[in-house]
Amino acid sequence: MEHSGVQFFVEAGKRAQQWHSKYLAGMRECRFDTIAVHGVYSMQEALDFNQGSLIEPVYMSTSQGYRNSDEMEAALGYMIPTWCYSRIANPTMYYYEGVLSLLEGYGTGLETSCLATASGMAAIQSAVDPFLVTDPKKPGAKLNFVATCQVYGGTFQQFAMRKEKERNIEWRRVIHSNDLSEWENKIDENTRFLYGEMPSNPSQAFFDLEKVAALAHKYNLPLIIDSTVATPALLRPLAYGADIVVQSVTKSLATSGFSICGAVISRKNLVSNIDNDEMKADFCTYAKLLPNRDNGPNISPMNAILALNDIRTIRTRMDLVSMSTQKVAEFLESHPAIEGVDYLGLPSHDLHKLASQYMFLVDSEFDPRYNKKVNRFGHLMSFRVKGGAGPTRKVFDAFHRIYRATDLGRIKSVATIPAISTHSQQGEEGRKLANIPDNLIRLCVGGEHPDDIINDLRQALDSLQGKKIYTGSPEYSAGGASSAKLQ
Ligand SMILES: *Cc1c(COP(=O)(O)O)cnc(C)c1O
Repeated sequence: MEHSGVQFFVEAGKRAQQWHSKYLAGMRECRFDTIAVHGVYSMQEALDFNQGSLIEPVYMSTSQGYRNSDEMEAALGYMIPTWCYSRIANPTMYYYEGVLSLLEGYGTGLETSCLATASGMAAIQSAVDPFLVTDPKKPGAKLNFVATCQVYGGTFQQFAMRKEKERNIEWRRVIHSNDLSEWENKIDENTRFLYGEMPSNPSQAFFDLEKVAALAHKYNLPLIIDSTVATPALLRPLAYGADIVVQSVTKSLATSGFSICGAVISRKNLVSNIDNDEMKADFCTYAKLLPNRDNGPNISPMNAILALNDIRTIRTRMDLVSMSTQKVAEFLESHPAIEGVDYLGLPSHDLHKLASQYMFLVDSEFDPRYNKKVNRFGHLMSFRVKGGAGPTRKVFDAFHRIYRATDLGRIKSVATIPAISTHSQQGEEGRKLANIPDNLIRLCVGGEHPDDIINDLRQALDSLQGKKIYTGSPEYSAGGASSAKLQ
C-alpha cells in the first residue's frame, strides 16, 4: 500500500493505538511489582522496533522525523500517536509516564494519565495552573484555592509568593486539615481547587482523604494531593477520590538520587468549575499537549530513564525502609534527650489510627512473607531535641553516617534541620503555621541496616553529654564549586 494521504496515517495510528490499549489492559491485570518492572514497554516493542533491547532505550533526540508531509500533518494535528519534539513528548518520557500512570491507578479500576515534569515543583505548577483561570462571566473576580499549610517548603513559596503575592490569587490556608469545616468554610464560587500534602514533609500531617475528596466534589472542585512521601507503593490517593496526584519523583520513587524529576497523574473525567471540557476529560494529556507545550517544563529523557530504573523496585524498597524507620522512631521515642518523635507509624502519634486506614504496603496480601494487608508508613520522620536550637544543632553536627543534606527519599540516610534549610524562606510566622519548630530534625532513613543508623543517632545524642563530638575532616575534598579549604 502506498504510504500517502493523511487518512492512511490516521488509520495506521488507530491500529497502533488499539494494539496498545489491549497491551495496557493486560498490564492492568498484573500485580504491582510486575507493572513497576515492565511498565508500558512491551516485548513486542523491544523485538520489533528496538533491536531486542531488554531495557527501555533512551531517546536523546530532540525531535521525530516523518515519512512525508501527510504523516507530518497528521502528527502535528495530534491525529496519530506521535512525539514530535522532546519539549512536548519523547518515547523515553512516555515509558516513565506510562509506568507512573499505571502505578497510581493500581487497584482503582480507574483510567489514568500522567504528565512528566522536570521536577516536583514543576509538577505542582503544572497541576494547579490550568485551574487558575477567571470565569469570563466574572472578569474581575479574585481567584482563590484552599490548601493545607503543612506543605513542603518549596510548595509554600510557590503558593505564597508566586501565586498570592505576584498574581493576586488567594491561598486560603487550612491549618487543621482534619477539621472538615475549616476546609468547607473557605470554599466559595471563586475557589478553583483543594490541595493537600499527605503525609506532609516534614511534619507528618495527615487528613481523611475520602472526606476531603467528597467535600471537593460537593462544590464541583478537584482535589489535588501531593503524595511524594507515601509513593504509590503505600498510598494511591486516586482510589479515595482525589482527582490529581503530584509526585516529586526525585524523592523515594527515584531513590538513587541521580535525577530531579516530577509527575502529575490524573483520573479521566475529573470535576472542575471551569468551562473546559477537554481539560476535564483528560487533564494530563491536555496539560501535556497544550499548557506544558507552551510553558516547557518537561523532563529530560536521561532523567526519565534514571528514575524509571529506580521505580521498578519501589514496593520492596518502601517496605524495607518503612520497617527500618519504624525501628529508628521507636529508639528515638525512648531516648531521654528527645522531646518528641513525629512518625505516623508510632501508636503514640495522634494521626496513627487515621493513617492506618490508608497506608498499606501494596499487595502485601499476595506477598508470601505477610499474606495479609500490612501497614507501612514510609521513611520520612522527624524528631525534636530537648533544649531548643543549640542542642539540636549539636546533635545534627555529630552525625557521621547520616548525611546532612536538604534531601529525602535517598538510599542513604539523610537529615536536615528544616527551620534553617527547606523551610527557612517562609519565615517564623510561616513555620509556625506549618508546625516547624527550630529544634526539629527531619530524618529520612535509607537502606542501611537500621542498627547502624541507631548507633549513629545514639553517639550523636551522647555528644550532648560531652561524651564525643565529631568535628569531621578539617578540609573539603570535593572538587568543583563546593571546593574550599578551612583554615
Ligand atoms: C521535594 C518535594 C517537592 C518538590 O520536588 P522537587 O523534585 O525537588 O522539585 C514537592 N513536594 C514534596 C512533598 C517534596 O518533598
